Amino acid sequence: MRRYLFFVIFSIVILSGMSVYQNGKFNDGKLHLVFCSVGQGDAIFIKTPTGSKILIDGGPDDSVLNCLSRHMYFFDRKIDAVIMTHPHADHLTGLISVVRRYNLMFYDIENLKTGGVESKILQDNLAIKNLSANSLKKGDRLSNQSNFSLSILWPSEEYVKKGLNFSSPEATDLDSNGLALVQMVVFGNFKVLLTSDTDYLTEEEVGKETGFVDILQVPHHGSKTGISQKFLEEVGPKIAIISVGRNNKYGHPAKETLDLLKKNNVKVLRTDINGDIEIISDGKTWNVVN
Ligand SMILES: [Zn+2]
Repeated sequence: MRRYLFFVIFSIVILSGMSVYQNGKFNDGKLHLVFCSVGQGDAIFIKTPTGSKILIDGGPDDSVLNCLSRHMYFFDRKIDAVIMTHPHADHLTGLISVVRRYNLMFYDIENLKTGGVESKILQDNLAIKNLSANSLKKGDRLSNQSNFSLSILWPSEEYVKKGLNFSSPEATDLDSNGLALVQMVVFGNFKVLLTSDTDYLTEEEVGKETGFVDILQVPHHGSKTGISQKFLEEVGPKIAIISVGRNNKYGHPAKETLDLLKKNNVKVLRTDINGDIEIISDGKTWNVVN
């Protein structure tokens, strides 16, 4: 009996200790932005200064769940918003496991029905939970909590109407990458540009609007069609993040892209080398933790 009582008291002490620790760690009033190490693909987890949780893309498999468990409170099963930038497997497949495990709101550019087999499975899993995709386009702002915002910069409604036809035989890979969501995260003076798999075409439209940013996610896993000298001059990032898998078959990131970043004195961090890359900001300053 005494042993049993000791065990109960011991467990309560451990659990409350965990709770106090996790509360302090996860509710610090700062913005946390994590580029998850998920192999060849994208998954970005954001915790806003008021504690809302946003996941952008889910990577190529369920390794995104490990990333979420590293950066979320142990018992937490709620993600406020999941945003899918476009329906390619390296951004979509992990979202199937996320939808199964977490309660969430789902956002995309109404293109789920146009993807491949994985899109269909994701749709089925959303339906099981009575969820449907909410549509996002240029001009939308997902959150306007004080000093924090996540804005959609691309694609515009006209472009979606013109290009959103993945099921058409003429549709090319470039079409769906060109329709990927581009997002700007702002907290006070701190600015992050998230570019998914976009390319030159998008940067023509986006670069001149953004002004300087602190952090740039290098488009399309560092592919050579992602950035140009002009674009780098427009957005002037301090750090460039490349979400990329080790020894991937596409040869990402391209040497040309790495050379261009080096020439412009932009520090590069890569998920294949650095693992999860976490950036924390209080709205004035920021630092990288990984
Ligand atoms: Zn991709």
